[in-house]
Amino acid sequence: MPKPVFEVDSCKGCGRCVSACPRKCLEMKSELNSAGIKPAGYKGEGCVGCGICFYNCPEPYAIRVEKD
Ligand code: SF4
Ligand code: SF4
Repeated sequence: MPKPVFEVDSCKGCGRCVSACPRKCLEMKSELNSAGIKPAGYKGEGCVGCGICFYNCPEPYAIRVEKD
């Protein structure tokens, strides 16, 4: 199954990926990253590999989408 993979220390916590995901399978996590920001993350299921989260993220390395 495809899945989004987050580099949490590159995330700025803007929430754009969470809002953009058509499957509503992303959320803001409660654990802080190294910059003291709550990063986005995967809920664990529902991803269809569309890549919309990747294209909406302003940070170059915060999200990648892995497909089998
Ligand atoms: S690839 Fe698509 S379905 Fe998967 S988390 Fe990103 S926006 Fe959501
Ligand atoms: S769009 Fe990028 S920077 Fe913004 S919350 Fe999502 S992963 Fe973090």
